[in-house]
Amino acid sequence: MVKIQVLEQDETKIKVVIKGIHRSYANAIRRFAISEVPTMAIDEVVIIENSSIMYDELLAHRLGLIPLKTDLERYVLPEECDCKSPLGCPRCRVLLVLDAEAVDKTKVVYSGDLKSEDKFVKPISNSIPIVKLAPRQVIKLEAYARLGKGKEHAKWQPTTVSVLKPISEEEDTHMLYIESSGSLPASEILTKAVEILHKKLLDFLEKSKSVK
Ligand SMILES: [Zn+2]
Repeated sequence: MVKIQVLEQDETKIKVVIKGIHRSYANAIRRFAISEVPTMAIDEVVIIENSSIMYDELLAHRLGLIPLKTDLERYVLPEECDCKSPLGCPRCRVLLVLDAEAVDKTKVVYSGDLKSEDKFVKPISNSIPIVKLAPRQVIKLEAYARLGKGKEHAKWQPTTVSVLKPISEEEDTHMLYIESSGSLPASEILTKAVEILHKKLLDFLEKSKSVK
């Protein structure tokens, strides 16, 4: 029988002991927590005005690395969305607007200056610096965030740490420790990773039935 014991848990960390499943399955859960559980990240940026010293590509890259609060109930991966539109729809993308100007003195633009159309999907912190503006410099842009997976690009990784340690090999007992980037609660990353493993195995079962 499978047993899970929670040793430590808060919003960003979870440490569990998993007993009764083979190391390869426990390791799949660890890997899926990094590479398969989706999170939101900015993926496309339309620059309307940029008179800062940072060039457009670098600015877009920096915006992509800001972890965003993610809601996996309301959003779907663009490739799984019914809209099939390259522009996306309210089910598969979120618009964030940045409109900043340094009037008469130097100004640092922070993640908190990004205004999201969805009050839940926003930077995990308001104090991540993006760019410094000199007087009279302006940045105006539209940023589109979407769900993606860590295996596609590291900016979609929901975890900063995901490790598995054997406790007792004979009894198939392992300790799994997950630390979240802040996009999702650590416990949700764990359950999603298990769900994804379950889905893949079911899919495999279905396909194997057709093999004669
Ligand atoms: Zn869509």
